[in-house]
Amino acid sequence: DTIGADLDRTVAAWPDREALVDVASGRRWTYAEFAADVDRLACALLASGVAKGDRVGIWAVNCPEWVLVQYATARIGAVMVNINPAYRTHEVEYVLKQAGVSLLFASLRHKTSDYRAMVEQVRGACPRLRETVYIGDPSWEAMIARGTPAHAEQLRARAAELSCDDPINIQYTSGTTGFPKGATLSHHNILNNGYFVGESIAYTEQDRICIPVPFYHCFGMVMANLAATSHGACMVIPAPSFDPRATLEAVQQERCTSLYGVPTMFIAELNLPDFAAYDLSSLRTGIMAGSPCPVEVMKRVVAEMHMAEVSICYGMTETSPVSLQTRREDDLEHRTGTVGRVLPHIEVKVVDPATGVTQPRGVAGELCTRGYSVMLGYWEEPEKTAEAIDAGRWMHTGDLAVMREDGYVEIVGRIKDMIIRGGENIYPREIEEFLYGHPKIRDVQVVGVPHETYGEEVLACVVPLDAADPPTLEDLRSFCAGRLAHYKIPSRLEILETFPMTVSGKVRKVELRERYGTAQV
Ligand code: ATP
Ligand code: MG
Repeated sequence: DTIGADLDRTVAAWPDREALVDVASGRRWTYAEFAADVDRLACALLASGVAKGDRVGIWAVNCPEWVLVQYATARIGAVMVNINPAYRTHEVEYVLKQAGVSLLFASLRHKTSDYRAMVEQVRGACPRLRETVYIGDPSWEAMIARGTPAHAEQLRARAAELSCDDPINIQYTSGTTGFPKGATLSHHNILNNGYFVGESIAYTEQDRICIPVPFYHCFGMVMANLAATSHGACMVIPAPSFDPRATLEAVQQERCTSLYGVPTMFIAELNLPDFAAYDLSSLRTGIMAGSPCPVEVMKRVVAEMHMAEVSICYGMTETSPVSLQTRREDDLEHRTGTVGRVLPHIEVKVVDPATGVTQPRGVAGELCTRGYSVMLGYWEEPEKTAEAIDAGRWMHTGDLAVMREDGYVEIVGRIKDMIIRGGENIYPREIEEFLYGHPKIRDVQVVGVPHETYGEEVLACVVPLDAADPPTLEDLRSFCAGRLAHYKIPSRLEILETFPMTVSGKVRKVELRERYGTAQV
């Protein structure tokens, strides 16, 4: 179905339940109020001449207006283009031009980024861009005021013209491995995915989801927002961008039942000095996704954050995003060692990257997925689309995985991150997981860097627990000696304060490789 029709059903079923809460401003919407504001904005978009298929950009950190734009564009069949709030002129110009954005929403509410000045700088280079509306500025109110009863009539007519296979969203990938690519997604793609992700963790209209992950990324807009609205659950925005303290305060104040995050966010929350003072007893579930979760972190999330049913999801922007997920009944081993089983109506296989032949269970290869969740394609990039989706409609994920006998899938790492040292294949994840147990290490990333004789060597980048007392390379090597094969033991160490991250919370290993990539003599 279309996202608009799905929202209508939820509103009819639970008009008085809360849909959206913005903790920072204290504003709240019931489903009836939320739908009314969505429709008001949708009418305003029609009044502004936005046609079906036109691209409407949104460049903002998390705020309630973001969610209104998401549903209003879907209602009128416009294609929403999510723009990373961390982007600056060079990147935003690329996206505005590449996607042909004609109307842009940008937020002035958060003073950290001067979006108005940046829009002024790039506007000349983006001839398709007709208008920019600023959130937290009179131009937003002026925009809303444009809709009239005639537009409400037009809105009903537009709804009848929409098909669930229409593109409604261009989402750029995180840019973890290179330049972001614009995945074009349909109602059918993301609405179903949001619904099934919510089903796996048994969402109902009683659930309240704390969302510290960015809306601009599918983790926020699909796994949180669409999962919430398709089940009548409530979206709670703790803060405009991730803040561990605000997140736990929101859980406590709003009695959230579910909390999202990438593993690094959970680590930051657990490391707050006054962590134990927060009442998190309302939590029952949540989602961790985006990158592998260290076992120790998972144990603490289950025990100390009350998230006994926390679920691990694996996915990528190109597949709406989720294709594998753990279930409520899975044990700790499956929730840390694997990313769960395939979701309904999706197929997965693991192939030999060289030959494309399906690997036997237990053998690593490239993970491929197929089904309703596979994107329509990369926006106006047919060659890149053809490289990613083969003639059999399989999406090639670029991730290395193992399918276990019991159907659970382990992610071994990215093909691009695999280290090949003297002919041995090394998966950084295994070494990271091991080093995580070192008493002086808070966080660790392992990358391959060029080496004269071995081709590549193993570099450990470490954030120490105590900046005044970081581990030495000798410490690490003796910690590993006898417990890891010699070729996996790091031969270089760099101490860092933080890792370079994408806004979706993933470590940019490319950047670490570039920074330390000069061969040492
Ligand atoms: P880009 O494609 O631009 O380099 P990206 O792949 O990080 O960036 P996303 O679509 O946000 O962009 O992320 C998808 C990737 O995240 C997957 O291909 C996989 O490598 C990783 N990933 C997602 N979930 C998990 C998980 N649960 N465990 C391990 N890795 C994961
Ligand atoms: Mg990717």
